[in-house]
Amino acid sequence: DQPIVEVRDLRKTFSVKHAGGVSTLHALSGVNFEIMRGETLGLVGESGSGKTTAGRILVGLVPAGSGSVRLFGHDITGADGKVQLAKVRTRLQFVFQDPYASLNPRMRIGSAIAEPLDIAGGLSRKDRNDRVAELLDLVGLPKTSIDRYPHEFSGGQRQRIVIARALALNPEFVVCDEPVSALDVSMQAQIVNLLLDLQDRLGLSYLFIAHDLAVVRAVSTRVAVMYAGSIVETAPKSQIYSDPQHPYSRALLDAVPRADPDYVRHPVVSGEVPSLLDPPPGCSFHPRCPFAFERCRVEVPILKESGPDRRVACHLFA
Ligand code: SF4
Repeated sequence: DQPIVEVRDLRKTFSVKHAGGVSTLHALSGVNFEIMRGETLGLVGESGSGKTTAGRILVGLVPAGSGSVRLFGHDITGADGKVQLAKVRTRLQFVFQDPYASLNPRMRIGSAIAEPLDIAGGLSRKDRNDRVAELLDLVGLPKTSIDRYPHEFSGGQRQRIVIARALALNPEFVVCDEPVSALDVSMQAQIVNLLLDLQDRLGLSYLFIAHDLAVVRAVSTRVAVMYAGSIVETAPKSQIYSDPQHPYSRALLDAVPRADPDYVRHPVVSGEVPSLLDPPPGCSFHPRCPFAFERCRVEVPILKESGPDRRVACHLFA
């Protein structure tokens, strides 16, 4: 089975202007992952880890620096990347964190959901309206929502509207960038359940981006942990939670509240994510890592196989 998404050595820098001149921000420093049909890859990392940049490159909102991104077998980063992306454009969609910012406050819900259909064209008025009604039903909103405006809905309902619009053209792959982070906990569970239900019914594949491991647990098939522009560990969901290998994954996991009083926590990781304007040499986690040794300060660890279907970038596993 071929992956529907294949990311190889993806790199991206941004120029940042400041009083002293221009500096280079290393947002992605060689990212590798793949997503198979019907699965969800949970991409986890603190803000500034590069996870959102990776998601935006995948849907064509940000151009890649170097490396390759293949979507459904089409390389969208090559010389004719734009042509290749246009071929698969309707097969992928995205849902962003903030459902408030994603909807035009002056546009009725029916028109907002129909927007991709109207841009694609080719549907009669009746077929278009039937499709909007079908999409509302799919995300659990009443048909009467059509004539209402975004401000009449709660945050969770707005995210349902955004999801309905993302599904309008029957995508196969959806990038969900922190889709529940702006919602309260009970709403989060509802939207997560909706995404799981839609995956079941429509055979969707997701890249689900989040900043903690708790949210990702419910949705992911596999998890990739990002730190300072690199993926430091990938593993099937069951293993990342029971046996995290990378010291940063362990620290992230320890941030998740646990009911088990006998659970022994790992050494606490203090400090901040390093500046991507001036990343530390060697392993970018070494200034915070309780296990760092000499080699970590000089040599960048490479993501390597560390068990069946799992990889880790850490000298402890060399
Ligand atoms: Fe820690 Fe060294 Fe592993 Fe980096 S390579 S995570 S510093 S032990």
